[in-house]
Amino acid sequence: MKCPICGNEHTGKLSKSRYFCSNCFIEIFYSKKHELQIFKILEDGTTSAVPIAINN
Ligand SMILES: [Zn+2]
Repeated sequence: MKCPICGNEHTGKLSKSRYFCSNCFIEIFYSKKHELQIFKILEDGTTSAVPIAINN
């Protein structure tokens, strides 16, 4: 799973559909419908949804 934000190919796999990019500090959810959801991991450990606007 390539990070859709920075292109890092070494994302960590958290579960079947969850990945983690240590570059961006985000969690990437990849659903069966091929829809991506990005969550930024905040300092307190909570996550915040990030709107995706990727042109590549
Ligand atoms: Zn990234």
